[in-house]
Amino acid sequence: MRLILVGPPGAGKGTQAVHLASHFSIPHISTGDIFRLNIKGETELGLLAKSYMDAGNLVPDSVTNDMVADRLTHDDAKSGFLLDGYPRNIDQADFLKAVLEKSNTPLDAVLEFKLENAEIIKRLSGRRVCRGCGATSHVIFDAPKVSGICDSCGGELYQRPDDAESVIANRLAVYAEQTEPIINYYKSSGLLKTISAVGDVSDIAASAIAALK
Ligand code: AMP
Repeated sequence: MRLILVGPPGAGKGTQAVHLASHFSIPHISTGDIFRLNIKGETELGLLAKSYMDAGNLVPDSVTNDMVADRLTHDDAKSGFLLDGYPRNIDQADFLKAVLEKSNTPLDAVLEFKLENAEIIKRLSGRRVCRGCGATSHVIFDAPKVSGICDSCGGELYQRPDDAESVIANRLAVYAEQTEPIINYYKSSGLLKTISAVGDVSDIAASAIAALK
């Protein structure tokens, strides 16, 4: 299975990606996670990505495309992959298409998660991430037992800089202007499946699997 997840920030793509990657036994490749790991490791790539990410803007295609092309050459991606957060504009979609055509490994599906802006803002502004294990929680919808402490590992919870309310509006604008056009791009190639991102995590996971059958 070669699969792409598309949807606005806060749609729960990351959560569903973990589930789908395990269901199909394919690696979960999140460009956002790769950038965050590089920021944590203070690499050159991390330093470059940080200013774009903190402002809610896209990291330049020249950097992102090469990073993904390299990741797709790893052994674990030979029999399939799930891309979460890539492509995010038409140029990235064209680049990916060329990479996959070269290796004669076309995409099987693009799964779109749909969610209203008001719900996105509620979800993102309350989202917290564990510094230890990366698990996410929410100050209202999925509050930890002890405020600021991860239920899973006891690590410290923090707010991603790009989940600050002042940055969310820009991320939504970037999504509408740059990422939404790829939905029609994949619709016209017959790959697009759309599901609602509202409801229980397990119900959404079931809809996702059903849509991909
Ligand atoms: P995410 O974790 O998918 O919400 O991504 C967080 C941030 O990482 C985005 O707001 C961008 O700054 C950057 N990023 C992730 N994926 C991409 C991509 N495909 N192209 C450019 N920037 C990206």
